[in-house]
Amino acid sequence: MVSALSAPHFHDEKAAFAYVEARVWPEGPNCPHCGGVERISLMGGKSTRAGLYKCYQCRKPFTVRIGTIFEGSHVPLNIWLQAMYLIAGSKKGISANQLHRTLGVTLKTAWFMAHRIREAMRSDSPEAFGAGGGMVEADETYIGQVKDTKKRQGYQHKMKVLALIDRNSGAARSYVLPEVSIANIGPILNANLAREARLMTDEARVYVPLGKNFASHGTVNHFAGEYVDAWKAQNHTNTVEGFFSIFKRGMRGIYQHCQEKHLHRYLAEFDFRYTNRVALGHNDADRADTLLKGITGKRLTYQTVGGRA
Ligand SMILES: [Zn+2]
Repeated sequence: MVSALSAPHFHDEKAAFAYVEARVWPEGPNCPHCGGVERISLMGGKSTRAGLYKCYQCRKPFTVRIGTIFEGSHVPLNIWLQAMYLIAGSKKGISANQLHRTLGVTLKTAWFMAHRIREAMRSDSPEAFGAGGGMVEADETYIGQVKDTKKRQGYQHKMKVLALIDRNSGAARSYVLPEVSIANIGPILNANLAREARLMTDEARVYVPLGKNFASHGTVNHFAGEYVDAWKAQNHTNTVEGFFSIFKRGMRGIYQHCQEKHLHRYLAEFDFRYTNRVALGHNDADRADTLLKGITGKRLTYQTVGGRA
């Protein structure tokens, strides 16, 4: 039996660099300082850091970490890859405390790594949901508590989340809402859905005017538009409700004390795992590869994460 974590890139930093470089630089290394690709050499020697290159066009050194979520981190790259594997592969998420104990990094480092990895999970996909007339489920849910609010009946004090599921691809995208309102939900729908999309929601009034922007709008108990009969069986929001139940189980079990300012990163994490889930034909290895594609252009400093020093 071979453990998935026995692969060399999880244990050997050189192998980890080779693994990441093959994905970030499929055409070979390019200099992040001057963009050069021709006169680049790998630095050798015992005292040289793994993965260190020198560009002889601008005479500056660099590694593949520059411009990625790994930039400025002292954690060995193979430990980063272990962290990514663990977060990408655990259905409900994994706590910073667990990462700290498993990886042998400090709790503070574990917390920060996890947030950077969530940034890599954030989808930049420009693909519209519901393209070609596909169905898109939209629904909102409430979780936890907004800082400095009083707990009372109803949902006002809770954090609000909107999720969209593209029924054809099975992909999820979700967003933090300051309030459940037409003004907040409208732009999100317009940015993510194709005009020809067929929107599916519950009967919340907020969707009534917004549904008019798309080919048709069905609600769980009511449908206005064409193809009424053929659609009756499809009139549900079970998919998005299923997504929320995974999300809530994870948030309650692992990330109980999430603040609203970090919630979008947790949502990115749950979106990522849901979109790349086993039921859609993905496995742990290709999920880890997909995650690696998201590491560039998302460097997060401790300050922007709002970390506790
Ligand atoms: Zn250069």
